[in-house]
Amino acid sequence: MPFGLLKYGFSPGYPARRDLPAPKDLRSGYDVVIIGGGGHGLSTAYHLARYWGITNVCVLEKGYLGGGNTARNTAVIRSNYITPESVRFYDESVKLYENLANELGYNMMYSQRGQLTLAHSDATVRTFRLRAEVGKLCGTRIEMIDRQQIQDLVPCLHMPEDARYPVLAGLWHPDGGTGRHDSVAWGYARRAAEMGVELHQRTEVTGVTVEKGRVTGVETDRGPVRANHVVQAVAGMSSVVAKMAGIALPIRSFPLQAMVTQPLKPFLDPLVSSSALHCYVSQTARGELVIGGGSDPYELYSTRSTLDLKESLIAHTLELFPFLAEVRLLRQWAGITDMTPDYSPIMGESPIKNYWLDAGWGTWGFKATPVSGKRMAETIANEKVPDILQPFRLDRFATFDLANEMGATAASH
Ligand SMILES: Cc1cc2nc3c(=O)[nH]c(=O)nc-3n(C[C@H](O)[C@H](O)[C@H](O)COP(=O)(O)OP(=O)(O)OC[C@H]3O[C@@H](n4cnc5c(N)ncnc54)[C@H](O)[C@@H]3O)c2cc1C
Repeated sequence: MPFGLLKYGFSPGYPARRDLPAPKDLRSGYDVVIIGGGGHGLSTAYHLARYWGITNVCVLEKGYLGGGNTARNTAVIRSNYITPESVRFYDESVKLYENLANELGYNMMYSQRGQLTLAHSDATVRTFRLRAEVGKLCGTRIEMIDRQQIQDLVPCLHMPEDARYPVLAGLWHPDGGTGRHDSVAWGYARRAAEMGVELHQRTEVTGVTVEKGRVTGVETDRGPVRANHVVQAVAGMSSVVAKMAGIALPIRSFPLQAMVTQPLKPFLDPLVSSSALHCYVSQTARGELVIGGGSDPYELYSTRSTLDLKESLIAHTLELFPFLAEVRLLRQWAGITDMTPDYSPIMGESPIKNYWLDAGWGTWGFKATPVSGKRMAETIANEKVPDILQPFRLDRFATFDLANEMGATAASH
């Protein structure tokens, strides 16, 4: 038997599966250059090739594919926002996720187990009512539930009436869930590469070349690359890269941390989040608890995790689940998030012709990976921003036409 195993291992007839083709030389020009090999950049590349036949595309990634915020997020997928424009947009993404494993032939471990958000104040109850009505109007599954229904959904939730922040009601969103973030990036990367998209890792964009108000290419640490279209999809580096094109974005960058515990027997089916306690918890297929909260309170380009955030996240989580007190933490990490004033993304046109923005994804962009790729590809192919992206255009900040989602984003992501 050991001999058979060795023979199998060394046999040239059983080569290791290669998900991505071997890297090619960087060419001097492409139709479309995508800066950033995270989920958004890769999804855009995939949709360009698959649905618009545009394959003369390269993705330039300074690190490794999916190694930015795509690798760091807590994988919450939902559409229970406040404005109808956002609900419709994120609902399109939820629907794309529902079929994504089939579409890409890649297991995303998508699990639509529902999301429960807790209200601890009358003001939050009022906002939840609004969100429930807007969600229903847009055709999504969402409803207000009372304390008994909450306890039925999550029997182990600690909810005494005399708690510091008593649970008053809940917003139940059966369409909410999670997916395996790495697989989303790898799935898009693999299928895009099969259709001819070039993926260049360890290739940093260091400048953007503009002539007569139109983008003509990028500078990289491997030389210049010409392009008819350039898309920036660099999440926490949005302001830095946009500045290379001479564009100032209304974005501030904050670290956002999360952590994961040792595996436990399954006890928590839905995702549970509380904006008053600034924490949310979900249990992975492996049994680990993924715990997250709000952004750090200061602007910083750093991915170091901190003790004070860990302490406060743990304290708040224990108010909801006190029996976790003896559980051990396995890991804690941080990403840099590009926060807009209205907690909605910036997508579509920039002041530079054919330089397209996919930015402002803050703490909420993983769930939008399929729809942003689909709609950015449509934008580039038609050189026209589709209606669904109009609410997220950059110039809304000049016209004060905001898509305010602060109340629906906070600690729920
Ligand atoms: C702790 C944490 C928890 C989160 N939880 C959730 C959640 O539960 N649900 C949700 O929807 N969202 C969540 N988010 C937000 C989400 O992770 C991001 O919005 C999303 O991943 C953005 O995807 P992206 O592809 O745009 O960015 P990224 O995955 O960050 O990809 C951008 C890439 O650009 C590359 N890059 C940057 N500069 C350059 C350059 N000059 N040249 C070349 N490449 C460059 C980077 O290396 C990076 O790989 C969370 C974020 C964090 C940090």
